[in-house]
Amino acid sequence: MSDCLFCRIVSGEVPGSVVYHDEQVTAFRDIRPQAPTHILIVPNVHLTSTEEVRPEHISLMGRLIQLASELARQEGIAASGYRLVLNTGPDAGQSVGHIHLHLLGGRRFGWPPG
Ligand code: 5GP
Ligand code: ZN
Repeated sequence: MSDCLFCRIVSGEVPGSVVYHDEQVTAFRDIRPQAPTHILIVPNVHLTSTEEVRPEHISLMGRLIQLASELARQEGIAASGYRLVLNTGPDAGQSVGHIHLHLLGGRRFGWPPG
């Protein structure tokens, strides 16, 4: 059994609000949503952060973005727009050590981020 919370959501050991799952990637709703749509999209394989991305992960990382676009359409936020966020390390506030792409939408976001 993995110690990693998101590995456990991927495997189904910990219940998550899963909206999509296949052999490569899993998407589930954030437990503390920061916007009307807040979905986390993760590779099923454990990678701690973008710092562990290697050439063999390039298509997997592309898949995260392409799935975000599909889910944005399903959520009805493709036209209004959305933000994709990958937090890496302490200065970015990464709090879970398994790469996750945030899909945020349904409201207007400020820029630059705080
Ligand atoms: P980070 O700050 O690392 O970029 O984002 C981690 C995200 O994971 C946060 O938005 C947080 O609300 C979410 N999160 C933390 N624990 C859980 C959990 O048990 N289930 C779900 N669905 N999301 C979680
Ligand atoms: Zn993990």
